[in-house]
Amino acid sequence: GAKWSRTIEILRDFEEKCGTPVEKLKQVTDALIVEMNAGLHSDKGGRVKMLISYVDNLPTGEEDGLFYALDLGGTNFRVLRVQLGGKDGGIKHQEFAEVPIPMELMIGTSDDLFDYIASELAKFVTQEGEEFQLPFGRERELGFTFSFPVMQTSIDSGTLITWAKGFCIDDTVGKDVAEELAKALKKQGVDMHVTALVNDTVGTLAGGRFSNKDVIAAVILGTGTNAAYVERAEAIPKWHGPLPKSGEMVINTEWGNFQTSNLPLTEYDKALDCDSPNSGEQIYEKMISGMYLGDIVRRVLYRMAEEASFFGGTIPPKLGIPFILRTPDMSAMHHDTSADLSVIGSKIKDILEIPTLSLKKRKVIHDLCRIVATRGARLAAAGILGILKMVGRDTLLSCNEKQKSVVAMDGGLYEHYTEFRECLEETLKELVGDKVWEHISIEHANDGSGIGASLLAASHSRYL
Ligand code: ADP
Ligand code: MG
Repeated sequence: GAKWSRTIEILRDFEEKCGTPVEKLKQVTDALIVEMNAGLHSDKGGRVKMLISYVDNLPTGEEDGLFYALDLGGTNFRVLRVQLGGKDGGIKHQEFAEVPIPMELMIGTSDDLFDYIASELAKFVTQEGEEFQLPFGRERELGFTFSFPVMQTSIDSGTLITWAKGFCIDDTVGKDVAEELAKALKKQGVDMHVTALVNDTVGTLAGGRFSNKDVIAAVILGTGTNAAYVERAEAIPKWHGPLPKSGEMVINTEWGNFQTSNLPLTEYDKALDCDSPNSGEQIYEKMISGMYLGDIVRRVLYRMAEEASFFGGTIPPKLGIPFILRTPDMSAMHHDTSADLSVIGSKIKDILEIPTLSLKKRKVIHDLCRIVATRGARLAAAGILGILKMVGRDTLLSCNEKQKSVVAMDGGLYEHYTEFRECLEETLKELVGDKVWEHISIEHANDGSGIGASLLAASHSRYL
């Protein structure tokens, strides 16, 4: 009937607006490159900040000793300790703990957040076993992975530019987050020095390089999205410091804030952005990353409920709650291979309290998940192509027989959302062509950001 045609109309219209043909993706890549170059020229360059990380040496494999790391991402934070074995010794021991961040702390005060983190770290330190050894007279050292945009002033200091991913604590903005952590550690009586402050992308790059010499870039696809890569210091006009011995500098792109008129932005994306605490910002991230994908699906479903009585005469109250449909739920529905789409049925029952839904409606939901995930994955691939182009690894000329270009990848979205991951890889292959693709690989750097931060603490240790 009319209701069903309206459903299909909304679906088709959405699919069309989400379209990402290769030509469009290439325009997105080109626009990103323009933005990245502007960011390398000046801090006022544009939306893509291209932050200088002060990491001019990636791990060599000779790092030695006991180091801690603290990884503050989006939903959880992780603490870990590693015992590094020195030349060819690898990682001898590692232990970690994962702690959820209570919602109220994400929008509370700076002191409350850092006190909480420090107190959890304090507990973790007391569990240090004998296999971890700190040389006599030394203070423990920590690499702090902080996955938000920071204007670094050195390897161990930097001020928060803005929060993202649902965090909103005004009094942290403009403060040195390494110092905030150090103060909280002192308050909690934790005897530990903050040796390195690193973005998660930079940590993942460091961790990735430690295990594979061909790693040239790192990408995060988790709650948010971002990328870092190794740039020639000479190619960074805004860098006025001494030229590093290595000639290189790791750049944290902060590509999540990228925006161009070529992005296939729909009315649902615009509404999501409007309702977010960082409206107008992180537009690329809002189309790609785990925090948002599920909510885009929810918004289209809401429209279908409103205009096509998709769930019957009334709109399910739960459907109006932002973020109630999370990306892991969307992923489970997308991966539903059962003939009657029973996973979709039970998710809709659990989340929206709708007891039954016809098979053809379940198929519509499956389509919605596919459309949103495909668009995100293809846009992420366009971003990776941009990085490859920045470092000249996107052409056959750049591929001699032996040279490999490895992108270290981390984040829950990439790790768990198989359809997303496969689509991203297929798209990148499509973009660079089969021949170049043979020289490129994407490798999952499991917990690379935490380990990377501990490696960077080791290579920048105050006792070296
Ligand atoms: P963060 O980005 O906060 O450091 P993670 O890298 O662990 O943390 O990513 C967590 C994000 O990954 C979640 O916000 C969620 O969006 C996404 N995610 C987790 N599990 C799944 C899943 N099964 N399917 C799809 N996305 C998932
Ligand atoms: Mg993370």
